[in-house]
Amino acid sequence: MEWLALPAGLPPERVRLIKSERLAPREQALENAGVVVCGGRGMGSKKKFRNLMELARLLGGQVAATRPVVYARWCEEGALVGQAGRQIKPQVLFSFGVSGAIQHTAGIGGSPFIVAVNKNPSAVMMQMADVGLVADANQVCLALIRELRKRLRG
Ligand SMILES: Cc1cc2nc3c(=O)[nH]c(=O)nc-3n(C[C@H](O)[C@H](O)[C@H](O)COP(=O)(O)OP(=O)(O)OC[C@H]3O[C@@H](n4cnc5c(N)ncnc54)[C@H](O)[C@@H]3O)c2cc1C
Repeated sequence: MEWLALPAGLPPERVRLIKSERLAPREQALENAGVVVCGGRGMGSKKKFRNLMELARLLGGQVAATRPVVYARWCEEGALVGQAGRQIKPQVLFSFGVSGAIQHTAGIGGSPFIVAVNKNPSAVMMQMADVGLVADANQVCLALIRELRKRLRG
């Protein structure tokens, strides 16, 4: 059951239920996603991590995370990928600011195409990637968001 809070100040008598839909469970959505955007500690902050959520939305994908991100509460626990979390197998995995520790990569073995963004070209995740960008993760994320918005508008 998914509960939504009404915006503050909205009188309940002005609200009418038009339609209700059962949402796919979070974990199934992540495990069955064709595109996953995964963020690690290299995203730098909760605010920057939220940009990955927007990127995933524009790509029609799901957001995943590493353990430090979940521990820092930048996102929900259900997004954790790896030994202690979920096993994913998206057609395309975007990995932003993730080092590629074995406990994390244990959960992404089923991904046939990986795009990694990391400031450190020697990071394990960069060695695993099909495409590796040596760059600031948040800057690349914002550039992709801008480009996708432009293309989706036009
Ligand atoms: C028993 C056990 C179980 C575990 N289970 C899991 C698990 O299920 N899942 C999991 O993820 N972890 C798990 N871990 C933790 C794991 O060992 C790693 O510590 C964790 O995966 C590292 O997360 P990270 O890559 O986000 O952070 P870090 O290792 O700190 O890596 C951050 C990366 O971001 C890069 N970076 C920094 N700044 C930028 C920037 N501005 N732009 C681009 N790149 C940048 C850095 O070069 C680095 O490669 C487990 C550990 C243990 C001991």
